[in-house]
Amino acid sequence: MFGRLGTALRSAVQRMGMGSVITQKDIERTLREIRVALLEADVALPVIKAFLGRVQEQALGKNIVRSLRPDQVISKIVYDETLALVNNAPVQWAKNSCILAVGLQGSGKTTLCGKLAFMFQTQKISTLLVSLDPYRPAAQTQLTVLGHSIGVDVLSVVPGEDVYTTAKRALTYKSSYEHVIFDTAGRLHVDTALMQELTELQNILRAKEVLLVCDSLIGQSITEVIKAFSQFPLTGIALSKLDANHKAGVILSLKSLLNLPIKILGTGEKPQDFMLWDAKRIVNRILD
Ligand code: GDP
Repeated sequence: MFGRLGTALRSAVQRMGMGSVITQKDIERTLREIRVALLEADVALPVIKAFLGRVQEQALGKNIVRSLRPDQVISKIVYDETLALVNNAPVQWAKNSCILAVGLQGSGKTTLCGKLAFMFQTQKISTLLVSLDPYRPAAQTQLTVLGHSIGVDVLSVVPGEDVYTTAKRALTYKSSYEHVIFDTAGRLHVDTALMQELTELQNILRAKEVLLVCDSLIGQSITEVIKAFSQFPLTGIALSKLDANHKAGVILSLKSLLNLPIKILGTGEKPQDFMLWDAKRIVNRILD
């Protein structure tokens, strides 16, 4: 999932000198190699610059204690700084809440709704799935089929019903379920009509969780998508298609650039293919 990033970072660090002090020359060479590894992984430039600055500041002139080699010292600094890049509070879902999935068309919203519903289902938490995409009957059918395949209730589709009426109808079932998960309509680009619809829907639903689903394959353009959606009160990001992405540096960039937590990662097309955000686990997977 993280391609060559871990290997490249490890080999950059391992080539550190073996002396008793970390020298400027050692640092410069290692930082150059780390920079290339991060660039190749598609980490955003400002994030790389800040990251390397912090590593250099901590590493320079550091005395090597007898039990640790320079590469081990740098390795620890790189680990701590990588963790700092992605550290979020553990993911928690508000109880008795509506969860709204928003994002561009094809980003993975419907699939994500299925993953969340599957996760709650395995925790024996009752969930209702609702499609708020009357413009694409295929999307409504996709959600219905998905829900039935995992044994989760799906709000029936009323042909011709407008999206706001569907939202209100779904709310009448809210007291019967712990979570109501809403899949919304996407567009190819963010536009005023989409934002208006989402804002009106949120006025009705008052969802405590609003997840922006982003396709990790679009790389650094994700920051543009998030900025465009951030006029809307997002609570977190769901990053999809990490299994198909060999340049997952975007994970390392998002928190520094936008300060929005990544909550869940999609690692395949099936409902069980996901990872809840866990900073240490992610960093271990990147660096191991
Ligand atoms: P939506 O238009 O935003 O609802 O997007 P969909 O949920 O329909 O997903 C679009 C395509 O991406 C579908 O073919 C999904 O199977 C696929 N997809 C979604 N999430 C993932 C993922 O994490 N990994 C992979 N490999 N494919 C995914």
